[in-house]
Amino acid sequence: MAQSALEAVEQAVEQGQGSGPSRAHLGASIMDPDCPAPLPRMSEDPSHYKCKWCDHSDQCHGTGAPQVSCRTCVFSTPEMDGDGRWSCGIWKKDLSFEDQKQACPKHLFIPPMLAPWAETLDGDDDFVSYTNKINGQPFVNGQGGYTSAEIASAGELQFIGDPAIDDLKENMGGRVVG
Ligand code: SF4
Repeated sequence: MAQSALEAVEQAVEQGQGSGPSRAHLGASIMDPDCPAPLPRMSEDPSHYKCKWCDHSDQCHGTGAPQVSCRTCVFSTPEMDGDGRWSCGIWKKDLSFEDQKQACPKHLFIPPMLAPWAETLDGDDDFVSYTNKINGQPFVNGQGGYTSAEIASAGELQFIGDPAIDDLKENMGGRVVG
């Protein structure tokens, strides 16, 4: 049977990866190199009482985008040594907690984190392309497309990749600010 997110957090704690369940443990579990996709939801039904209690239900069930931080960036790695150490594959350095909260302009979302509403098509160091499953339109996270900050602030994800929004961005220098 698939392991739930909560079970993964509890397992991480049992294995000595921390002293108690916290957002950091959950992030480390989701981005475990041995676990390339987000862990299964507590329930597939967003109206399930456990999902209704969860602060991350919108992101998990596909009606909201993740926050921008190094922990949601495809270039970050939760290292298995040190004291909760995270590193960046772009800047080749360890990331302080303040670094992680701030992120940087190179941020690209970890594709499986957008999977509830976006299907991954292609990617490189500067972009990841998707099809928005809500409106059926292609869009790019990164160079030539939507910054992670734009996606995170969009509010209504059906606007990501909308031809009218793309036109405003391309021809009038617009950007999505929520
Ligand atoms: S590329 Fe930027 S946002 Fe991504 S992990 Fe490195 S510092 Fe963080």
